[in-house]
Amino acid sequence: MYWQTFTILLVLLTAGCGSESTASLDSLGTVPGGTTANTASQTCNDHTDDRGENSISGRSIVLSNKAGGSANVDATVTSSRGDSTAHSGALTNNAAPVRSTTPRPAEDDYRHHVAALLAKLPGDGFHVVIEKPFVVIGDERPEQVERYAQQTIQWAVKRLKQDFFQQDPRHIIDIWLFKDKDSYDYHVEKLFGRRPHTPFGYYSSSDGAMVMNIGKGSGTLVHEIVHPFVEVDFPKCPSWFNEGLGSLYEQCGDRNGKIYGYTNWRLPGLQQAIRDGKVPTFETLCSTTTHQFYREDPGTNYAQARYLCYYLQEQELLRTFYRRFRSAHGDDPTGYQTLQSVLGETDMAAFQKRWEKWVLELRFPE
Ligand SMILES: [Zn+2]
Repeated sequence: MYWQTFTILLVLLTAGCGSESTASLDSLGTVPGGTTANTASQTCNDHTDDRGENSISGRSIVLSNKAGGSANVDATVTSSRGDSTAHSGALTNNAAPVRSTTPRPAEDDYRHHVAALLAKLPGDGFHVVIEKPFVVIGDERPEQVERYAQQTIQWAVKRLKQDFFQQDPRHIIDIWLFKDKDSYDYHVEKLFGRRPHTPFGYYSSSDGAMVMNIGKGSGTLVHEIVHPFVEVDFPKCPSWFNEGLGSLYEQCGDRNGKIYGYTNWRLPGLQQAIRDGKVPTFETLCSTTTHQFYREDPGTNYAQARYLCYYLQEQELLRTFYRRFRSAHGDDPTGYQTLQSVLGETDMAAFQKRWEKWVLELRFPE
């Protein structure tokens, strides 16, 4: 029935594929903070593409019903966050590390997936864009949904894969972009049978979906995109690094074709915790279990992990750390030894002092 109201447009997009479904529910951490600066121009004007290179047909489909919703939200990679939210959930994938050749979804899989999706759209005004390995569904104008698909999702995925991830998720993942709080609250409950636990957005592996209040900015979206890739590329990745990497890109842009995180709203809280002497050691952070990271957070876990990743990034060590840690996690499940090795540090207490001093000199806005 819905098909009759849809306009079908064909556009060129990139290829990729699907996601593992394990129990996980991720959301962003809680550091109260101000709104972020806009890095859109750096980020979104540079989405040189490699369109169609992996796709059988080289095409994806944009399906949309009648135009609906107002759209004055720019497609940026920023987050505008001012309030706090409860932490929730974690990646709890205990599967063995995978370097498999498991087939990824084919063109037909996307078509069938979208057909099923169209049949369950929760109302008029939704538009569907295939941006592999994702299917993007939004209730802003079709061109705005497509802009998010290309200028945020495609942009980030290309760069994240370039630097970190060797494999795509194994199943198609839906990205729901709701235009504002009312839409987000209403539709999350309608689609998933629960109230959202965060005002910004989250990734649920068990739902095979990311759900965003995109009116809050697209920084959360880039954060969450990291998780399904980590889930398949580094299944044993501990929460501290999964969240450190995700939150690094809440505020990001392009440097010479690579994705870079910038200082963001998590900085002032971390600086205060440093001044108060309340930041745990890196050994403690790295040793946190998933439960401890999310549920026993002294209030600094996300920020400490983020600004460790930021430090590694600024030393051009982040990609090296990720790759070495992924390879060595059997012997070093927490990453702490790999961290020392990559830093070339034997005295981590001295490193922490230097890192804290460095963090205190950072500025946000820059
Ligand atoms: Zn996260």
